Amino acid sequence: MAEFQRVRVHYGGAVQGVGFRPFVYNLARELDLRGWVMNAATGLWIEAEGEPDRLEAFLERLEKGHPDAALILTRETAWLAAAGYGSFHIRDSDNSEAKTAAVLPDLATCGLCLQEIGDPSQRRYRYPFTNCTRCGPRFTIVRDIPYDRANTTMAEFPLCESCRREYEDPADRRFHAQPVACPACGPSLDSTIEEAASALSSGLIVALKGIGGFQLLADARNAAAVARLRERKRREAKPFAVMMPSLEALRCWAHLSVAEERLLTSPAAPIVLLRPRRKLLDDTSPYLGAMLPYSPLHHLLMQAFGNPVVATSGNLSDEPIAVENGEARERLGAIADVFLTHNRPIAAPCDDSVARVSRNRTSLLRRARGYAPMPVRLGMDLPRVLAVGGHLKNTVALTIGRQAIVSQHIGDLDTLETRRAFEQTVERLCRLYRFTPELIACDAHPDYYSTRWALRQGAPVAKVQHHEAHVAACAAENEVRGAYLGAAWDGAGLGHDGAIWGSEIFLCDGPHMTRVSHLRPFLLPGGDIAARQCWRNAESLLWSLGRAVKLQKVLAQRINCIETTSMGRLFDAVASILDICQENRFEGESGLRLEALAAAGAAGSYPLVMTDGAADPRTMIQALADDEGPPAEKASRFLNWLIDWISAVVAQTGIEQVVLSGGCFQNLVLTDRITGRLEEQGVEVFTHQRVPANDGGLCLGQAVLAGLRAQRG
Ligand code: ZN
Ligand code: ZN
Ligand code: FE
Repeated sequence: MAEFQRVRVHYGGAVQGVGFRPFVYNLARELDLRGWVMNAATGLWIEAEGEPDRLEAFLERLEKGHPDAALILTRETAWLAAAGYGSFHIRDSDNSEAKTAAVLPDLATCGLCLQEIGDPSQRRYRYPFTNCTRCGPRFTIVRDIPYDRANTTMAEFPLCESCRREYEDPADRRFHAQPVACPACGPSLDSTIEEAASALSSGLIVALKGIGGFQLLADARNAAAVARLRERKRREAKPFAVMMPSLEALRCWAHLSVAEERLLTSPAAPIVLLRPRRKLLDDTSPYLGAMLPYSPLHHLLMQAFGNPVVATSGNLSDEPIAVENGEARERLGAIADVFLTHNRPIAAPCDDSVARVSRNRTSLLRRARGYAPMPVRLGMDLPRVLAVGGHLKNTVALTIGRQAIVSQHIGDLDTLETRRAFEQTVERLCRLYRFTPELIACDAHPDYYSTRWALRQGAPVAKVQHHEAHVAACAAENEVRGAYLGAAWDGAGLGHDGAIWGSEIFLCDGPHMTRVSHLRPFLLPGGDIAARQCWRNAESLLWSLGRAVKLQKVLAQRINCIETTSMGRLFDAVASILDICQENRFEGESGLRLEALAAAGAAGSYPLVMTDGAADPRTMIQALADDEGPPAEKASRFLNWLIDWISAVVAQTGIEQVVLSGGCFQNLVLTDRITGRLEEQGVEVFTHQRVPANDGGLCLGQAVLAGLRAQRG
């Protein structure tokens, strides 16, 4: 018999009073599943436990067979450890969610609205701002609660007679749809879709005002246009996402699993990283990040153009996405040749979300449009904590009772624009949820902008170590209970000892975390530049083996050298020695290349030496440097060495739950292999699903640890 698993589903929207709970109850009983179904203010929560095959069937039938009258607006699924439920029952409603019900995420255009804009007999024929109760903008138009038209950016568009009739008719699909609009009364474009499509055809760059901000578009098949976009955006090699005209078109470009199709066509409609079928023109990544049109404006433009377009955030590298017309013309004027703008204001920036699917599970790499601000359910009640996240890929979180509201992706807090966006996001979330924090949680790094901001607020502040926060975030979203081992592997975070950490393994129980293993520290010659120049890390490790290197003197005299246990830098060193990446042109490039290479590799590993709980990378590097096998085998053996290490720590401690967090675990070859190996040993492995493994997930862990520690105070 297959091992039991538990799946949690959250349906957001109006799903109550339509027979949804009895439907779920009967379906679960029929499939012999245990668990519960419960109404809450944000929608409906379901937990079902049983054999994995039956759970898959359950999910499939939930999607297809739910009551027609249910208005499902969002859906998120998470796989958890079995809880040992005895039967299936209908639980009492959860009333703790009252205030968090206010704001929904933006929802991709529904099938009915799509039909309507394609039908010449309809008054919304080809109208780019068509929406209804089931679809359209939400989070990005809300200025305040309650969620009424007057509190949204639609306030400046009084309803015409026809729209008002629909809005007031309980039998209509647009009954109380706050953003309802038509060509007579709603927002309008400042130029035509045909002009934008023909600009794309001529190789020009188009700035399009989308749902959560401006996007920059270029013909994905036109190498010169894409190169121009890269150059103007000062984006050297970081992969671009592509918007495909349709699912059918996308099938020609990438391999799609059922789960990937479900995600691409879901109301959140994120960018999904896929395995490409054909070589792309702009070939900087082994994956294809693709999405489908998600607003009527995108649908109409993609129909007019008919081919894939590169679609990237309207900003310079690492700045927040531009949202206002004037601001966009100023900031994007030197990048875009043509603007396609409109007069519906955007209340807050919200980038496209990015997700991956592995072993049928979704993991988010960037949580933004379509997901924010849906609550992440926690296993415990927490005080009101505002967690301000890290410095890079910043996000912030609020905890309200048993749930955390995690903000959309904000960006790297290096520029004035991003810092302003950070402050506006905190202010807006606190206003929308009528939230005053009892406690502010931040990173322990004194130079992070978010930390400095937290210390200026005058509220009590709790500093949370970076890697402890990573691990706590993953444990929280998976509701891990009891003792577990938490691995946090990433590029850099300030450690308790003042060194730069990044390969930590903690023994954890609730708020208590003890560092039980890490890499033996090595030197970063040049400090921060070593994060870009992979070869520096290779030199440092080769030098520590007594080999002659260029940076001999720098390393021997420790000139501008700092100590680190960073896993990211070890990936850099290995990628440099394998000569697949000497310089990271974008964050994580060395890891991405190693992953792609190792995927084809086989078994075998390098010798593992542990001293005082630390794994010594030198013996591994020595063996790697002397290995005469093909690069794919070497890459694979390096990953296997990491897995040997983690499974040795598991064996030593006898702990049977392992949590994986930190940017390195975005590497699916590594994550899937560790999971496979540990599961063979009877260990349960937890990975991120709803919040990112990278620093975009830090705020959740900060909030949970600070909250728990304050409670035990
Ligand atoms: Zn609709
Ligand atoms: Zn109207
Ligand atoms: Fe990190």
